[in-house]
Amino acid sequence: MFYRNQEEDNLDMQVAMRLHPRHISEEQWRKCEKDMSTILSAFGLDLDTPATRDTPGRFLRAMFDATEGYEGDPKLLTVFETECRGGPDCRLSQVIEGPIDFFSLCEHHALPFHGHAYVGYIAHEHIIGISKLTRLVRLFARRFAVQERIGQQIADTLVTILQPHGVAVYLEAYHLCTQMRGVRESLPLTRTTFWRGEYENNPELRAEFFNMSGVRQ
Ligand SMILES: [Zn+2]
Ligand SMILES: [Zn+2]
Repeated sequence: MFYRNQEEDNLDMQVAMRLHPRHISEEQWRKCEKDMSTILSAFGLDLDTPATRDTPGRFLRAMFDATEGYEGDPKLLTVFETECRGGPDCRLSQVIEGPIDFFSLCEHHALPFHGHAYVGYIAHEHIIGISKLTRLVRLFARRFAVQERIGQQIADTLVTILQPHGVAVYLEAYHLCTQMRGVRESLPLTRTTFWRGEYENNPELRAEFFNMSGVRQ
């Protein structure tokens, strides 16, 4: 039996979470606000009203907050022990959480995409609180991202944190970069799935994941 200490585990998680803390000086903020004013007024916004005078700064602050996933989430680092008997019970018992709302900014247009995540796993010796799954989704969604990568990162981080028998992640989202432009009437929903471990080779587990989630396949 190979034991790891808590510090090694924490280090693995930090790496899996791909953190990128931002350090923006007062001077950089002022320059960004100036640049944003130039862009917004060139595009037609009248910045010379009481309502819009602070819009460049507010926009930047909102964008900064919407990408706070780069900073990490210390509350994610706790996992709990469970007892895995290694038998059929352990292998087939899924924990599924969803829908978890998420909002992200697409890295191609820096415009929002938003939708729901469903996360499932089959525990081995560790479990994680349900609220932590929500935090994990938001950790990766609140960045400049693409939907595929968010799903991969959620799945791979859960594998690192829990070393479970399997992980399933399903994401569905509306992408404003396509929907705010053009004249399309229907709203296309982009769906992505990610399977790790037991889910990869077991169609019944995947079907059960969708059934329990209430998601139409
Ligand atoms: Zn886009
Ligand atoms: Zn097990």
